[in-house]
Amino acid sequence: MRLIFLGPPGAGKGTQAQRISEMHGIPQLSTGDMLRAAVKAGTPIGQQADAVMKAGKLVSDEIVVGIIADRIDQADCKSGFILDGFPRTVAQAEALDQMLLPRGIKLDYVIEMTVDNGALTERITGRFTCAKCGAGYHDKFKQPKVAGVCDVCGSKEFSRRADDKAETVGARLDAYTKQTAPLLPYYRGRGVLRQVDGMAAMDEVTRQIEGVLGA
Ligand code: ADP
Ligand code: ADP
Ligand code: ZN
Repeated sequence: MRLIFLGPPGAGKGTQAQRISEMHGIPQLSTGDMLRAAVKAGTPIGQQADAVMKAGKLVSDEIVVGIIADRIDQADCKSGFILDGFPRTVAQAEALDQMLLPRGIKLDYVIEMTVDNGALTERITGRFTCAKCGAGYHDKFKQPKVAGVCDVCGSKEFSRRADDKAETVGARLDAYTKQTAPLLPYYRGRGVLRQVDGMAAMDEVTRQIEGVLGA
């Protein structure tokens, strides 16, 4: 199964991709996570991406297309993958089509998480993750069961993203509206676009996605 999760920052793409990845045994390919790893490791790509990400702007198509092209040829992607945060521009979507075509791979669904933009600042500024296993949490909507201890791995270390600040939310939403939203008609025209209610509770969003996949 080949899926794309689409939606503005904070819509719940990563949360749902993590769940569906586990349930279906296919990897979650998050360009955001890959870029953050490159920034942390100080690679040339990371050095280029760091300031752009902190400003809430999009990293160049060339960089992210290169990252994904390498990734989808790895063995664990053979039976499918979930693209989380890619593509984000029409040029990236076209590049993805060009990657899939010679490999004989088709996208099954592009799942759009629809949200009320007013809710996104709270979603984004309250977000944190386990520093060890990457499990996602939220100050208000998903606290660890035992305060300060990761539910999944027991770690007591958590981290917050450098770009998850109220000041950058505007720039990121703007990038979504101008550069990413044109992907909706692009995929609607191909008959693969499906919508789920990103404002619903996390479990309900998962149920709606499962409904699409089972249909
Ligand atoms: P994205 O990957 O689209 O940026 P995330 O999955 O990281 O979004 O979600 C952003 C924040 O909102 C996280 O802290 C997450 O725990 C929380 N969150 C995700 N889905 C929901 C939901 N349906 N209801 C409330 N909070 C949510
Ligand atoms: P969010 O979960 O908030 O939607 P991501 O983790 O997907 O954010 O992305 C964080 C940042 O990484 C983006 O604001 C952008 O700077 C960069 N980025 C991630 N994916 C892409 C992409 N496909 N194209 C360009 N930039 C990207
Ligand atoms: Zn953990």
